Amino acid sequence: MPTTKQLLGSSGETLICKRCSCPKCKRSRTFKRLPTNFKCADVICDFCGFLAQVKTLNRRNVECVPQRVTGAAWEPQASRMASGIYFPVYFVLVNGSRRAVYYLSADHQNPAMFKPRQPLSSQARRAGWQGFEYDLSLVIDAGLVRLAE
Ligand SMILES: [Zn+2]
Repeated sequence: MPTTKQLLGSSGETLICKRCSCPKCKRSRTFKRLPTNFKCADVICDFCGFLAQVKTLNRRNVECVPQRVTGAAWEPQASRMASGIYFPVYFVLVNGSRRAVYYLSADHQNPAMFKPRQPLSSQARRAGWQGFEYDLSLVIDAGLVRLAE
């Protein structure tokens, strides 16, 4: 059984596939969800191969993007940044049936907006695992765009 968090994530990915046209080839309904264990991206355009990540959040107010958003594992993110690799991210904010989609292109990302978090304690199930946070305060007025419904 998928967890509540997994269901939230898959609902955001499905929304992107249904509603968003591909930023690269401009075609609509070409995004397809990638398998859950696919590491670098969540959706792919099956016309041009454009890859993007999708981050889905429960928010009381979907009109307002949070300054900090929990990301994924720090190590692969750090390695990709060291190679100058960034993936576009869709942030899907959800409050029941109210939803808003924000888009951050790879061009507007830089190492400063990825903040490593404390590694998990030795008592944690995944002891030593380290995640990161997106610091969106750096891009809210410069790069992050809200997409039309
Ligand atoms: Zn495309």
